[in-house]
Amino acid sequence: MLTLLKLLKDGRFHSGQALGMALGISRSAIWKQLQHLEAELGLSIHKVRGRGYQLAAPLTLLDPGEITARAYSCDWPILAFDSIDSTNAEALRAIERGQAAPFLVLAERQTSGRGRRGRKWVSPFAENIYYSLVLRIDGGMRQLEGLSLVVGLAVMQALREFGISGVGLKWPNDVLVGQKKIAGILLELVGDPADVCHVVIGVGINVNMQMTDEVDQQWTSMRLELGEAIDRNHLVATLGLMLQTYLGRHQVGGFSAIQAEWEQNHLWQGRAVSLIAGVSQIDGEVLGIDGQGALRLKVDGVEKVFNGGELSLRLRDDS
Ligand code: ATP
Repeated sequence: MLTLLKLLKDGRFHSGQALGMALGISRSAIWKQLQHLEAELGLSIHKVRGRGYQLAAPLTLLDPGEITARAYSCDWPILAFDSIDSTNAEALRAIERGQAAPFLVLAERQTSGRGRRGRKWVSPFAENIYYSLVLRIDGGMRQLEGLSLVVGLAVMQALREFGISGVGLKWPNDVLVGQKKIAGILLELVGDPADVCHVVIGVGINVNMQMTDEVDQQWTSMRLELGEAIDRNHLVATLGLMLQTYLGRHQVGGFSAIQAEWEQNHLWQGRAVSLIAGVSQIDGEVLGIDGQGALRLKVDGVEKVFNGGELSLRLRDDS
C-alpha cells in the first residue's frame, strides 16, 4: 500500500493503468488499495475519470538519507517506520534486542502514540514528527537530572530556528505557543540508573497538522503558526543538532548550568498555579526551578520544592 503512496506523493495525476503496471497488479487492486489509503491513513485522493488519481496535496515522506546529510554531526543510525505502535515502544524493544545506542527511531504515524501516565499522543500519518532518541547512560545519575527539561529547551530552540518566536516552556516538559501545546516530551528509562541504563527521549512535534478533533486540549502546529508547510526532514535534522548541543552542555555542566536559561523561557514564571498530584491539589505561585529541575512554588508564603513524573501544573483562573 505504501509503495502505491510513494508513486502518488508528487501530487500529480497517475492513471490506474500506469499505477497497476508499476506495481504489477490489476486496476481494481489499485482501486482497493487507494480506498485503504484513504480509510487507514486519512488521506484524501482525487479520482477523476480519464485522468486517474491524485493526492489532494503532495506529500514529503521522511528520508533518513536526507536527515543524515543535513545533520552529519549526528551520525545516529535511524530506524524509520511507515507505521508503528509508538516510537518509544519500538525504541525499548530495540534496546532489548541489543541495538547499540545512540540510535533514533522515527515513524510516519503512531497507532498508539503515548503521553505521560498512559495518555494518548495523537499521531496522524506524514503530518508531524514522532521521534525517539536512545542514549546509553553509564553510572551517571547526574546525567539524568533535569534531562526532560533540557530536552524541552532543545525542542523549543529547534522551533525558534524555524521562526516560531512565541514558543516557550511549561514545567516540567511541555512546549507551548501561548496556551497551546505544540510538542510533547516523554522520557522512559530502562536498566539501573546507578549503573548502566538507557534513556528513551520521546518527542512529538505538531508540524503540518491543521485539523484534528482528537486532541482534548488547546493545541497548535508549526504550519498553523507560520502559515506554510514545513519540511519534516529539515526539522528532524535541526532537532538532532539542538539536542546534541543541549545534551552536551548538560553532560559537561550538569543541569545547574542550564537552569537560568530554562527559567527565562518558562511561560508560567511568577504565575498563580495549582499543582495536581492525583487527587490532591496545591495552590501556589511559581518561583522557578532548582538546580535539579524541581519546581519551586511559594505556598502560603513559604518556598516548597516539588519533583516527580506524576505532577501536572494548571494555571489558576485568578492568575
Ligand atoms: P500535564 O499538563 O499533566 O503535563 P499534558 O496534558 O501536557 O500533561 P502529556 O502526557 O504531556 O500531557 O501529553 C498527553 C496529552 O496531550 C493528551 O492527554 C492530550 O490532551 C494532548 N495531546 C495528545 N496528542 C496531542 C497532539 N498531537 N498535540 C497536542 N496535544 C496533544
